[in-house]
Amino acid sequence: MMNGVGRGASVSLNDLQKSYGGVTAVAGVTLDIRSGEFLTLLGPSGSGKTTTLTMIAGFETPTDGDIAIDGKSVVAMPPYRRNIGMVFQNYALFPHLTVADNIGFPLKQRGVPKAERTKLVGDALELVQLPGYGARYPRQLSGGQQQRVALARAIVFKPRLLLMDEPLGALDKQLRETLQLEMRRLHADLGITFIYVTHDQEEALTMSDRIAVMNEGLVAQVGRPEDLYDRPDNHFVAAFIGESNFLPAVVRGFEDEVVVAEYNGSLIRAISPSKQRDAGMKVILSTRPERIRFADGAVESPAPQNRLNVTVTEAVFAGERCRYMLRTGDGSSIVLKEPSSAAIRRREVGERVEISWSVADTILV
Ligand code: ADP
Ligand code: MG
Repeated sequence: MMNGVGRGASVSLNDLQKSYGGVTAVAGVTLDIRSGEFLTLLGPSGSGKTTTLTMIAGFETPTDGDIAIDGKSVVAMPPYRRNIGMVFQNYALFPHLTVADNIGFPLKQRGVPKAERTKLVGDALELVQLPGYGARYPRQLSGGQQQRVALARAIVFKPRLLLMDEPLGALDKQLRETLQLEMRRLHADLGITFIYVTHDQEEALTMSDRIAVMNEGLVAQVGRPEDLYDRPDNHFVAAFIGESNFLPAVVRGFEDEVVVAEYNGSLIRAISPSKQRDAGMKVILSTRPERIRFADGAVESPAPQNRLNVTVTEAVFAGERCRYMLRTGDGSSIVLKEPSSAAIRRREVGERVEISWSVADTILV
């Protein structure tokens, strides 16, 4: 603890904007990142993630808006004075320096004496699980090991904020999953604030305390992984995180928190987490494929259910689960995913069947 402040910095972005000539990279991002939080900026390529991160680091100057770290505006402060660690996708290690000298570089820049440098570099190597690698050169390390060295270099000077831009993007899937777990552990050990950028929704869901979903230079929604998955605020988030079925409907009435909407002659009950809806309004119903069940034979849930009659148009056995494509009365498609079991009868193409799913799993977006 320093001066009664937590080990991690808090970061406030207030209507942050960046334009390059006619191109708007960041259109007005407002976001409060808490001390010690693991927050991920998740979004498709070009949504403004890197630009947001480089403005926090101080390598780009905002066109408008403010960035405050621990409540103080840093917009006029040069990058080196912000005391922020950074890791990029390309490891950006100095090829002619040993691992120890790479990691010690930020300490040398800050005038830390040699003996202390050696100790801090040793500690950092322990933290990233590379003890004894100090004398090697980057070319003698695998991609995963190089990225661990980059990580050690970013935390060796004990920053209170670590920014990472797609740091695992260049690694294969298995190594990526190992390093994801290591990053979580490191975050817990260090207790500092992590702001992590990725376009990979699975990575974001696995690692983050909270996720800010970005689209076209704006935050589409911010929340815990389960909030974003179960209660997407809008069509973009429902489609970008996981898989969703969408059906067009019209609002017909209300029952307490539940909105009653008409889809192709059937009444469907839904939750509207974020927006006020009025009767007659056109809306989109959104439901996850694994939350839908075949109604016949299934053990009925006591929770209120929606029901529809459909025809099976595609049935795919995919090992751990079966994936069905279903057609509704108006010709819309619905995907249903069912855990596979030798005890469950598999449905055949052409079969007419009733499906059901919980009102709580039906979201208006
Ligand atoms: P992301 O990291 O989410 O892929 P970026 O922040 O890199 O997105 O870019 C957001 C948008 O801003 C893109 O359309 C990109 O082409 C544009 N952009 C980013 N940097 C520059 C630059 N230096 N000059 C012009 N346009 C840029
Ligand atoms: Mg980027």
